[in-house]
Amino acid sequence: MFEPTAPREAPIHPLALRLSGKAVLCVGAGAVSERRVNQLLEAGAQVTVIAPAAVPGIEELADAGGLTWLRRGYGPGDLEGMWLAHTATGDRELDARVSADAEGLRIWCVNASDHAASSAWTPAVARTEEGITVAVTAGGDPRRAAGLRNAIALAADTGLLPLRRRRAGAGSVALVGGGPGDPGLITVTGRRLLAAADVVVADRLGPRDLLKELDPSVRIIEVGKAPGDHLASQDEINAVLVREARTGNRVVRLKGGDPFVLGRGGEEAAHCRENGVAVEVVPGVTSAVSVPAAAGIPVTHRGVAAGFSMATGHDELTELPARPDHTLVLLMGVARLGRNTATLLGRGLRPDTPVAVIERGWTPDQRVTIDRLDSIAATAEAIGVANPAVVVIGDVVRLSPHAAGRLAPAVPAPGRQPLPVA
Ligand code: SAH
Repeated sequence: MFEPTAPREAPIHPLALRLSGKAVLCVGAGAVSERRVNQLLEAGAQVTVIAPAAVPGIEELADAGGLTWLRRGYGPGDLEGMWLAHTATGDRELDARVSADAEGLRIWCVNASDHAASSAWTPAVARTEEGITVAVTAGGDPRRAAGLRNAIALAADTGLLPLRRRRAGAGSVALVGGGPGDPGLITVTGRRLLAAADVVVADRLGPRDLLKELDPSVRIIEVGKAPGDHLASQDEINAVLVREARTGNRVVRLKGGDPFVLGRGGEEAAHCRENGVAVEVVPGVTSAVSVPAAAGIPVTHRGVAAGFSMATGHDELTELPARPDHTLVLLMGVARLGRNTATLLGRGLRPDTPVAVIERGWTPDQRVTIDRLDSIAATAEAIGVANPAVVVIGDVVRLSPHAAGRLAPAVPAPGRQPLPVA
């Protein structure tokens, strides 16, 4: 718990209660009570509400049998057998009476209308996915407490807090899509899992900068594959994931882009499951869409292209649509760029169809090369285009600011109908 201000008197004593099956009395049935009642029910308490009238939420809970609602005023004897009381009647005097009666019976009581006189406070609470409960009190200022609670919850969700377990538990694997490389393009869930990981199995692609932020005690296992220089085989990677999880580690398999887009995430997930290792898959921002975007190319654009196909450049492109108004996105397409462009020309795609090759998208060394279908391969070769790169083929390439001057006709203004392409 977190107490930011020095209280005037003795500090409060934070305590976490197990309320499962315990009788709790709530006097009053307005909005404040409703929030509290829901928290108490979540904690498993047996809740009795006393009030002549109730907000619909409490009435519904009573009708459904979730709590007991005594439809009358508070009277002596109502606190009998209670472990805890909460009073929020909107009437300060009545709240004070409930509070005083509770005090006499040695029952802790939260008095919503008088923090100072309250023998117990309800903190602002956040629960994280990692089994952590954060409770904040702020010197009797509930909004301030809620604001702090929200900030802590956000920091926890976005991986900015050291959420790593210090006591060993069950091991698991998370296949996390890291996005194309920019540390801002991983998901919030991915970032949080990374912050909680004991072991990170990392690729050559993806948000490598995030690895530098990890606690020095986090083990990083590099399995990145550069074409032709296989650091670890897929079988070895699969084995590492299972081995590390079995020894009780939380393993994050940090992958470039999305784990299920040409990332062999499906195989890794299946291998974990077959070996009884709990595995979750966190989608990522795939380079197939985000790397074209980094060059200002939307893979679809109204009036220019209504769809796109993605493939690996290793495959023969004999089945894919070959039309300038259907965008082709090729991953791993550098080595066979010449063959692939020849295939597409042979299938009737216009020689002046624009092509973009985007190397190292979303990194400071990003390079965009734009040319016609019939000359891009020679251009790429001449300037030494290298992996990783995404190849985009189709009229959407004209929308890139990098296309200005390289291609005719001119780029249509966004939102306007494009000029007919010669
Ligand atoms: N699962 C990944 C793709 C893995 S295949 C995803 O969804 O993005 C590896 C290929 O992805 C590379 O050969 C390259 O074509 C492409 N790639 C990934 N990151 C890239 C980047 N930052 N810049 C350019 N290409 C990238």
